[in-house]
Formats: sequence, structure tokens, C-alpha cells
Amino acid sequence: MLAKRMSALNPYVPGEQPKDRPYIKLNANENPYPPAPEVAKAISEFVLSHPEKMALYPDPDSLSLHEEIAEMLNKTGGVLCRTVVTHEGAGGAISGNCQPSENDRIPFKVTPDMIYTGNGSDEVLSFVFYAFFDSDRPVVTPSFSYSFYPVYGGFYSIPLNKIDLKSDWSLDTEKMLEEANKTDSGTIFANPNAPTGIGLSREQVRQMLLKAPKDKAFVVDEAYVDFGGESCIPLLAEFKNLVIVRTFSKSLCGAGMRSGYLVANPELIQAVTTVKNSLNHFPMDAITQVAASAACKNAAYYAEKAKAVAEEREKFSAFLKAHGWNVLPSKTNFVFAEKQGVNGQEAYRKIKQDGILVRIFATPGIENYLRITIGTPEQMKALEKSMESL
Ligand SMILES: *Cc1c(COP(=O)(O)O)cnc(C)c1O
Repeated sequence: MLAKRMSALNPYVPGEQPKDRPYIKLNANENPYPPAPEVAKAISEFVLSHPEKMALYPDPDSLSLHEEIAEMLNKTGGVLCRTVVTHEGAGGAISGNCQPSENDRIPFKVTPDMIYTGNGSDEVLSFVFYAFFDSDRPVVTPSFSYSFYPVYGGFYSIPLNKIDLKSDWSLDTEKMLEEANKTDSGTIFANPNAPTGIGLSREQVRQMLLKAPKDKAFVVDEAYVDFGGESCIPLLAEFKNLVIVRTFSKSLCGAGMRSGYLVANPELIQAVTTVKNSLNHFPMDAITQVAASAACKNAAYYAEKAKAVAEEREKFSAFLKAHGWNVLPSKTNFVFAEKQGVNGQEAYRKIKQDGILVRIFATPGIENYLRITIGTPEQMKALEKSMESL
């Protein structure tokens, strides 16, 4: 009964959501804090004061949301939390100031026609694969990156050319470029990367863009950039093939709202809009558009939360190191860590018994690593207590 293509699907498996007891969820990189109070206010105001609007289709172009996103990016430089590591190891100055430094300022104005929004960046990413990658050549991507990329590759029959990470778990940018040029291919990776947490500087990405095929999409997924990475938005004027993917799910405390977006040059935004209008032309609902707009107006709140998460990450990394764990240097809201002699499955099970969920991967090479989302100080205290005996 099923179409033949069904047998080729290999769906993404998200972090588990068991209901047998209340768990502390540190397995899906969600933000432990609620959205800004103004978001709830905007939603109630919309639903209570304008119930008639619920009967109408939302703005298919999401114009006012795109204006708010552009304004937030222009105001903040596209990053909410800046980390200045002043010495090796834990600590370093973390700034929750959402004012851009000289280094972060975007040297042009981001305009609403440079924004595309969809139902979470997962949906946006699927349209990006459809719009920019052909099945006649492999897309270059790191061997370890967001595990949805291979899922979409399979869905759209687009081959992926997975490039091994270097021994320090950073991207092998030279090898990626060599392969992209060899096959005249597009590129996609997360920056900072997942599940490693390691980020490239904007200048490192710029050096890649200078040498990568100019007429193939170069996609940078900035899901975690607000926790201490460097955004590539300032490079959009220089590189017409750059596509930046962002989400409200991590730093904007909105995983439940399903909202993600692209920042790119208008011609590329047009292409993705064409894909959307060929599938489901009303993808983001009216309530989410209102909620996301309210979030953009309150960047200072989210900057403070991103700072709290980044500070907690540094404290927790120091704890892990003091207990013999090897912790990769994270610029995200999670850490990726392993300890010699500790089996990943067993560690995961012991922590789960203590009421806390973390993420493990069955992928060979990382099966003993735990990916731990940074929660509130109280949640991390509970986790430290559980991990002390590992
Ligand atoms: C979480 C995540 C996403 C997906 O975010 P949604 O907007 O919730 O779909 C995309 N890319 C990376 C690298 C992520 O970690």
C-alpha cells in the first residue's frame, strides 16, 4: 500500500520525552527559562482582544514579524551574549549585553526582504535543502553536525559528503573546501557546531567563503550563536551565496512555538519563499507570529538569560573537569563530555535513575559522550550530585 519512497525514509529521533515521572530535561537543548513576560502578554492580548482574527488566515508574508526580526538583528548585531575568555579554563568575562561591540556591528542594514520565517528552523532547513541542493552532487557537511541534515538528504535524495572532524573535534575546514571545490558543491554546517559545541570565528568562516564555490549555497546554521559564538550575518554583503539559519527555540526560549528563520540576500529568500508557496503557503500561524514579534522586542531579557546559561556552562564545565571528564570547549547551551572508563549508556542510565535526562548518541565514535543541556543553577546542582559518583 505504501509508496516505494517510504522505505528510503530514515526519520530523525528527537531527545526522549518520557512521562513516567517528572524528569529534569537536559537532553534537547531547550532553554530552562520561560519567554519574556511580554510574549505571554502579547499572546493573551491577541487572543482575547481580537478573537475575530483567529478566524482569518495569517499574513502569508509575515511582514511585521520580518520587520521585528530585522530590527532585533540590527540592534544586537545578531548575537545576544558575548564571551570574552580572559584566561584558560573556567570563567572568562561573559557579557549579557545585547549592544553590539565594534567587532559585531553589522556593516549594513538588515531589511525585511532578507528574512524568511517558518515552523521551526527544521522546516526552514528542509526548504533550504530543496531550494539549493541538487541530487547530482554531494553536499559537503561535517561527519558530526546536526543530525537532521542527513535526514533531509535522504528525504530529497541529496547525497552528503561527510568530512571527518579534526582530532580536536573542530571542523576540518581545509578538507571541506577541497571537497566542495572538487565536486562544485554546496556546504552546510552548524556554527557553533552540534553536538560538539565548538565554534568557528566569523573570520574563519569568511576564509572558507572566499575559497568555496561562489554559485553554490553555503549554509551556516546559527541555532546556538547567542550563547557566545560569532554571527556570520555581517558577511552577507560580501557573499551572495551565504544562507544563515536561526531559531527561536534555543536562546529565545521558544521551542514550543516552532519558529525559525533565515537571513540571506533577497534573491535567496525569494527562492525559499517559492518552495514554501508550493507546499503550504501559510506555514507560521498568527499566534506564533505575534509571540515571535514580542520576543524580538525584548532582546535584553533574552540576553540576560543567555548570559545566565553561559555562566552556568562555564561553572559546570569546571565541575566536570575537576571530576576527570574531558569537556569540549563549548560556545553553546550544552556541553559534550566523556570520561575515560565511563560507559556512555551506563552513565546515562545512572543519571536517568536520579531523575535527569541527558542525551547520548549511538553513532560510532561518540557513543561514550554525554551531551548535556545547561539548565538552571538548581538543575545543574542536581546533576552534579548525580554525576559526582561516576
Ligand atoms: C535545535 C536545532 C535546530 C532546530 O531548531 P527548531 O527551530 O526548533 O526546529 C536547528 N539546527 C540546530 C543545529 C539545532 O541544534
